[in-house]
Amino acid sequence: MSAPHVSAALNRIQPSATLAMTARVAGLKAQGVDVIGLSAGEPDFDTPDFVKEAAIEAIRRGQTKYTLVDGTVALKEAIRAKFKRDNGLDYGADQITVNVGGKHTLFNALVATVDPGDEVIIPAPYWVSYPDIVAFAGGVPVIIAAGAAQHYKITPAQLDAAITKKTRWLILNSPSNPSGAAYSPDELKALGEVLLRHPHVMLLTDDMYEHVWYADFAFATMLQVCPDLTDRTLTVNGCSKAYAMTGWRIGYAGGPSWLIKAMGKLQSQSTSNPCSIAQAAAVAALTGPQAFLDERNAAFRKRRDMVVAMLNDAPGLDCPLPEGAFYVYPDASGCMGKVTPDGQKIDSDAKLIDYFLDTARVAAVPGEAFGLSPAFRVSYATSEAVLKEACLRIQQACAALK
Ligand code: PLP
Repeated sequence: MSAPHVSAALNRIQPSATLAMTARVAGLKAQGVDVIGLSAGEPDFDTPDFVKEAAIEAIRRGQTKYTLVDGTVALKEAIRAKFKRDNGLDYGADQITVNVGGKHTLFNALVATVDPGDEVIIPAPYWVSYPDIVAFAGGVPVIIAAGAAQHYKITPAQLDAAITKKTRWLILNSPSNPSGAAYSPDELKALGEVLLRHPHVMLLTDDMYEHVWYADFAFATMLQVCPDLTDRTLTVNGCSKAYAMTGWRIGYAGGPSWLIKAMGKLQSQSTSNPCSIAQAAAVAALTGPQAFLDERNAAFRKRRDMVVAMLNDAPGLDCPLPEGAFYVYPDASGCMGKVTPDGQKIDSDAKLIDYFLDTARVAAVPGEAFGLSPAFRVSYATSEAVLKEACLRIQQACAALK
């Protein structure tokens, strides 16, 4: 029997830390442990009925075969109309790609363009998969730290200082997973002006949480405020978060046709087309009524306000108020160096999260997974009653640290 062998590319990446925590919670629950999971990155709402009906109808009419590799004509048209309606962006049909979830969109873009040694700038805290996908592609993640004091947003000066001749991409994610922080149009414009001075740098804007933000903020994507970046920007989005369609696996992007074509070439030799039925459902999601998004955001906002207030009442935690997404990212500097009732020293956010899980039976994700410590991510995509109980348990656990 041959010895086990995995590739060097595979050895450069780690399993997803958020999925690992979700699996740990599922394991504890299966053993009957009363654990509250605040680690999952998906809305607790259901996929809207009109979207489900469109999928059932697609099955009935036989839309169950291969489609064009990077998306049906109908879905690409729906995406073009969405970009026009929501973002004022005009993409041609050859400037749209549809992929198997937003993660796949990012994977295609980076693997299709990053050469060994190329640098990709990633602001931290970042979504867990960015550095791993870059590393898989052979690139070098260049991390810019943006802590709680700067509301988890990078400054133009930081961006300028991070750019070198080897920079291939900047990845921007607003509203952010894990911090919920979102850039205002003026803040985006200031970053865009830095990019305009460095024409070799491409921009990947991950707008996955475009529809999850609160009334005192208004979402903008970079090309709305800096249209001069159009020929080197990939605007990434998807159905997972806005339409509560995480399981359907539809991500998409608009960008320059050469890049869209390159991503399609890679996809043609890997997944082929995204699921035909999910694509039909995505057409319905993007073209159907959008009013329910406001109702959901109203519920998310109530939860955000409660969670931020309760976590700020926990000794040692400092939780900035995020503009969007469904996460908060409390800074846990005030807990470091303290000792648990059974004598364990808390010297990392990973230890703090283990302590929360073991004693308070609350699961969150340690900041080390997102590149900015000491902190942790709480997802508030769960009911108010459960969140309240979870925050009470965190308060008690923090108060018990000496
Ligand atoms: N980008 C960000 C910032 C995310 O949080 C996620 C999902 O957690 C994705 C992309 C990927 O989304 P999908 O589930 O469509 O692959």
